[in-house]
Amino acid sequence: MDADAFALADELGPARIIHVTEPTIGLRGILVVDNVAIGPSIGGLRMAPDVTLEECFRLARAMTLKNAAAGLPHGGGKSVLRADPSREATQKERLIRGMAYTLRHEQGYIFGPDMGTDERCMAWIKDEIGQSVGLPRELGGIPLDEIGATGWGMRHATEIALPMLGIDISGVRIAVQGFGAVGRHYARFLHDLGAVLVAASDTGGTLYGRGGLDVDELIGLKRAGRSVTDALAGERLSGDAVIVVECEIWVPAARPDVVTRANVDRLSARLVVEGANIPLTDEAERILHQRGVMVLPDFIANAGGVICAAMEYHGATEGEVFATIAEKIRANTDEMLTTSRREQTTPREAALRLAVGRVTRAMQTRRWSLL
Ligand code: NAD
Repeated sequence: MDADAFALADELGPARIIHVTEPTIGLRGILVVDNVAIGPSIGGLRMAPDVTLEECFRLARAMTLKNAAAGLPHGGGKSVLRADPSREATQKERLIRGMAYTLRHEQGYIFGPDMGTDERCMAWIKDEIGQSVGLPRELGGIPLDEIGATGWGMRHATEIALPMLGIDISGVRIAVQGFGAVGRHYARFLHDLGAVLVAASDTGGTLYGRGGLDVDELIGLKRAGRSVTDALAGERLSGDAVIVVECEIWVPAARPDVVTRANVDRLSARLVVEGANIPLTDEAERILHQRGVMVLPDFIANAGGVICAAMEYHGATEGEVFATIAEKIRANTDEMLTTSRREQTTPREAALRLAVGRVTRAMQTRRWSLL
């Protein structure tokens, strides 16, 4: 085990940690059900070769806070599969079905998509155990990555934040680390508002263009399974270079802990919009706050995807989700930033108070905080 499970526990959870191992098919996974006081947890299944218990727990906690802040009737959980997501499809299907089948009696967790999994994987899980969210359209799902639910919510968080910093959206320069489902839709929505994408990165490296990159071309390349660095125009730089390019808005939309004390001083942006979950360490966020850089924390800014998933679970239509995401995220961002200014705290501290307050009030109304 890579972390002491007891050392992770605090007053909110985790409710339970389940290790799943099936050596005959190479299945190694973990489920963390963090807190279910408000309702059964919703959280993604992440598939990556280097996932850990600690990462799974921190992501599960982020879901507890995100779902509570968004006012969803769901707690927080997360599952991880330690495997290469680009492995051959039948092997991937076997692992995902195996993980779901092993956890078929778990009442407190609803699988959703995350890095390394998609709506097809959710369809396998639904077929295996009868429920999941983030399903394909033909199974009654709302394909949240295809419609850009998370990027849509981040756009609205950005629109609330920029005037507070005295920045006009027209011509604002953005740099996106991780041009996947979250990053590319955010870039598209901001581009539609007049922003300029100056840098985008993926596992192939960083593409930089001082005068702006061609957002449509980059989206086309990603759809074709290629790297942003294959674009016709733009300067090819190393993967880490995306952190140091000059811009007003910096968007981490890939992995956790990409900005730490060691590299935080290299960020030039005035606003950080957290598309990824836990992309900055707490220390890095505090250093930025002291420097006057505003950081919109993950569990407020990137809640669009789970709002969409929860609405799908409760039978909403695709047309309804955009308005609800915009409404919830605008209201939460505004409340968080107003409290943060009034009480001289970081936005994360202000948002934590909002979310933890909702979870602890719900915990007081239950005989057990466990489902
Ligand atoms: P994705 O797999 O569609 O895209 C990830 C992208 O990041 C890919 O283009 C990949 O090449 C790139 N990448 C991976 N490692 C990188 C690195 N070290 N440097 C630069 N680029 C790298 O995943 P996604 O759905 O866009 O999710 C991205 C992040 O956002 C994850 O942390 C996820 O948990 C979080 N998130 C996703 C959603 C959602 O709706 N999909 C919602 C909330 C949070």
